[in-house]
Amino acid sequence: MSDRDPQPVERQLPTEEARDLLALVRDIAQREIAPKAAEEEDAGRFPREIFTLLSESGLLGLPYSVDYGGGEQPYEVYLQVLEELATARLTVGLGVSVHTLATYALASHGTKQQKVEHLPAMLGGGLLGAYCLSEPSSGSDAASLRTKAVRDGDGWVIDGTKAWITHGGIADFYTVMARTGEDGPRGITAFLVPGDAPGVSGAAPEKKMGMKGSPTAQVHFDGVRVPDDRRIGEEGQGFSIALSALDSGRLGIAACAVGLAQAALDEAVRYATQRRQFGRPIADFQGLRFMLADMATQIEAGRALYLAAARLRDAGRPFAKQAAMAKLHCTDTAMKVTTDAVQILGGYGYTADFPVERYMREAKVLQIVEGTNQIQRMVIARHLAGPEGRRTGP
Ligand SMILES: Cc1cc2nc3c(=O)[nH]c(=O)nc-3n(C[C@H](O)[C@H](O)[C@H](O)COP(=O)(O)OP(=O)(O)OC[C@H]3O[C@@H](n4cnc5c(N)ncnc54)[C@H](O)[C@@H]3O)c2cc1C
Repeated sequence: MSDRDPQPVERQLPTEEARDLLALVRDIAQREIAPKAAEEEDAGRFPREIFTLLSESGLLGLPYSVDYGGGEQPYEVYLQVLEELATARLTVGLGVSVHTLATYALASHGTKQQKVEHLPAMLGGGLLGAYCLSEPSSGSDAASLRTKAVRDGDGWVIDGTKAWITHGGIADFYTVMARTGEDGPRGITAFLVPGDAPGVSGAAPEKKMGMKGSPTAQVHFDGVRVPDDRRIGEEGQGFSIALSALDSGRLGIAACAVGLAQAALDEAVRYATQRRQFGRPIADFQGLRFMLADMATQIEAGRALYLAAARLRDAGRPFAKQAAMAKLHCTDTAMKVTTDAVQILGGYGYTADFPVERYMREAKVLQIVEGTNQIQRMVIARHLAGPEGRRTGP
């Protein structure tokens, strides 16, 4: 134990209820999640029981309406919960964020009857969701997706393969974007597909650099029949639903990135105050003190940025540009801070005896998912300068 164990993050929370909620989450994170993180990530084990616990504790539906079993918490509170979970283990924080993303389509565009029928189980009934947009040949260019849904009597038949699906093969429900019409973004419709529907199957999980406990897999839809009441929103509305889900989802990724970076900083401070070289703790050397100061400053700036975007969202104001900025800044910060943490631990940082090498491997994926950081820059630039290729001449 160091005499400089990290202090809990100083948080601004809007209500007493939110403060209690964060205390509960910190307790679950420290008692149930963090102690097994290293071993289970190494073994590639997904902690399904933790998601059951989170569901039972009301933590899988936080931003959604209490009418359907949600927690009706503002985004600024929900995101800080994600941050705490990701500090304990990214697989859990990111998993909750993806579940929330998968639930978004129904919660925001479902009919009252669809919500009554499905949402309570999705928000607090122990179910786990997955969000299916990417395909083997369409990633950043998601509007070129090829999975098809064809009308058949009073329902639909879905055929195609989704790629890189977090919780692929183990999810209880899939929110699937499929082509029902013309090429491009206007021919896409969203569907809620049960994980056990005949014809749904998950491939073997990808062998990833990090986040090995979080299964990422292709999901095949082979003649999957769903009734029309599993269609979410209007025909052709699926792509705009998918993109608005991602605006909110990116804030989740930003919060997870800040949580991961915080974990790396805490470990670096702990180590630097204990490790002695040249007769002094290495934390005495200005070269390292300035690194720690820069790491802490970038993390605090990231937290402020995602919270500012969340507060715009909570106020019902446009927040897409700020969400893209938060995703970009926070995930680049996580990459930098985790890399610096390895440096501060020296040779020990490069071994699996300490968690920072895992944090560094985990940070990388955050620059890729839910729109790569190149795509975030495109989104931000579009808000500043309009669409690419716009004619400026006569
Ligand atoms: C661990 C993991 C989990 C994931 N989970 C999910 C999930 O649950 N659901 C889901 O639908 N998807 C998921 N994804 C997919 C993820 O969203 C995509 O990987 C991402 O959108 C990039 O797509 P791609 O991998 O096909 O790369 P590509 O789109 O092929 O991009 C390759 C490179 O080209 C760059 N690039 C592409 N277009 C442009 C451009 N116009 N300008 C500049 N640069 C460009 C990209 O930034 C990238 O560097 C996951 C991916 C991973 C790795």
